[in-house]
Amino acid sequence: EKILEVRDLKASVVEDGNVILKGVNLTINSGEIHAIMGPNGSGKSTLANVIMGSPKYEVLEGDILFKGQSILDLSTDERAKLGLFMSFQAPEEVDGVKMRQFLLNSYRNINENDSISALKLSRKIDELSDTVYLDKLFLDRYVNNGFSGGEKKKSEIMQMGLLNPKLAILDEIDSGLDIDALRIVAESINKFKTENMGILLITHYQRILNYVIPDFVHVYSQGHVITTGGAELAKEIEENGYSMIEG
Ligand code: ADP
Ligand code: MG
Ligand code: MG
Repeated sequence: EKILEVRDLKASVVEDGNVILKGVNLTINSGEIHAIMGPNGSGKSTLANVIMGSPKYEVLEGDILFKGQSILDLSTDERAKLGLFMSFQAPEEVDGVKMRQFLLNSYRNINENDSISALKLSRKIDELSDTVYLDKLFLDRYVNNGFSGGEKKKSEIMQMGLLNPKLAILDEIDSGLDIDALRIVAESINKFKTENMGILLITHYQRILNYVIPDFVHVYSQGHVITTGGAELAKEIEENGYSMIEG
């Protein structure tokens, strides 16, 4: 099943009018892992944010379809309720809300008609913290507050595990991770992935793709996909850099 279809998408930054996305095309089917690789500043995070409906960007042309329906008119919250999820490149600290409560609230918000008890949800959250090797003490701390880079990424990936989205957009989930945390985060992604889920893995580096094997690799530059290949394309980029592809 087609989960996401991005068609000739052009988008600008509302604040300054700069056009960042210059005609992006991308189709993700259920069960597929797509990696987007590209240099810094090429618009990868912008693409993720526009798919999620961030009000900081304006769509100028093209369309974003989720299971065949345009989502351009939907708010970020409505998109999340449909099953879109994004982990942030730089997760924010939330003062006054503890991790466990935050996760419970996110689950309740997205699954309005689910009658699972708070106790069961809380147990599920405990299990998820084991999966990502995040000490349960973190569940009683304010969200991301004073967390290390790796701990923040683990808390992001816990959300993915809890929410079980249909489309998971992971924006540089590998950045700032040492090799052990990278392996744990990657193994968690593999564990949380289902046959009904599409994954868009945005990364600057090839190394996470040794653990989370992509079906497709898209090289992204200056606001559009310039070439698409299989997992081997990521290795070529690692060896030769982006310059050979940008020409
Ligand atoms: P990448 O994730 O590939 O590193 P980004 O999408 O973060 O790239 O940024 C692409 C370009 O768009 C950069 O020049 C960045 O400054 C600009 N940009 C993105 N979002 C904003 C914003 N909210 N306000 C101003 N400029 C932005
Ligand atoms: Mg960047
Ligand atoms: Mg980015």
